[in-house]
Amino acid sequence: MIQLFIPLNFLGFVYREIRESLINIERLFHLMDQPAKVVDADHAKPLNPGPGEIRFENIAFAYNPDRPIIEEVSLTVAAGKKLALVGPSGAGKSTIARLLFRFYDVDAGQIWVHGQDIREVTQESLRAAIGVVPQDTVLFNDSIFYNIAYGRPSASRAEVERAAHLAHLDDFIARLPQGYETVVGERGLKLSGGEKQRIAIARVLLKDPPILILDEATSSLDTQAEQAIMSALQEVAASRTTLAIAHRLSTVQDADEIVVMDHGRVHERGTHDQLLAKRGLYFQLWQGQRAANQADGVPQ
Ligand code: ATP
Repeated sequence: MIQLFIPLNFLGFVYREIRESLINIERLFHLMDQPAKVVDADHAKPLNPGPGEIRFENIAFAYNPDRPIIEEVSLTVAAGKKLALVGPSGAGKSTIARLLFRFYDVDAGQIWVHGQDIREVTQESLRAAIGVVPQDTVLFNDSIFYNIAYGRPSASRAEVERAAHLAHLDDFIARLPQGYETVVGERGLKLSGGEKQRIAIARVLLKDPPILILDEATSSLDTQAEQAIMSALQEVAASRTTLAIAHRLSTVQDADEIVVMDHGRVHERGTHDQLLAKRGLYFQLWQGQRAANQADGVPQ
């Protein structure tokens, strides 16, 4: 499993270095080899504000020239709509999200946000317009308050509490020994995958970007945690243009369009019902997951 974002141990190291300056998380990427390849064009302008339409036009990409990863992919996510990328492991789903965040530039084709080619705008403004709920949220060895406020360090106490409420964190925080002041992370309280994901959702709510990338956790959560996450995700995705990378098909049924990727190409696309009716790869993946869930006793 390749993570969408940075290795945690690296971030831990950087965190110790930057604790006082509280720099924007995306800037950390400049300290790493690969993303440094992407540089702003001389004439790059800030991204114009807009409702968040995303368009991938016939893109191709390879990490190494001898191994194409994405070929001839075209996708459109209209403003405020949700597109889910599904497909077998290694199909290229996370790579598409990394290209939108411009960790890499496409080798062919174009990616547009609000009608602007993302190579023509500053990376800072592009990334400010995109919120990410990653698979594995990095928590700093600091208070819950600090960890949530990280989404927008200038946020007031009331704004942080409102984001926590929308992310369904109230009950969890109320039960902590020191509430918002409880220290979490490596040397503090350990949080479950679901709790960490809700912190990520609260951060995104504070950041309030028009575009959202959801990189769904692969690990299965218990049903109660899953429901809390699902409703928190609905809060955060409502009215935002959302690109969801999904591993569990049960979470994408509400998407406006589901794109089934295989070997770096679009294999099928449609709504959940349309794809089931096609009886193709989506149908097979769906049947496979139902069988696995039944074997694990997960309610259908
Ligand atoms: P999963 O569902 O397992 O997360 P995915 O569909 O998101 O998979 P990607 O992470 O996009 O797949 O990876 C697509 C292909 O690109 C894989 O074969 C992977 O090995 C390769 N790949 C991913 N990241 C890199 C990288 N930094 N350098 C080289 N190859 C990479």
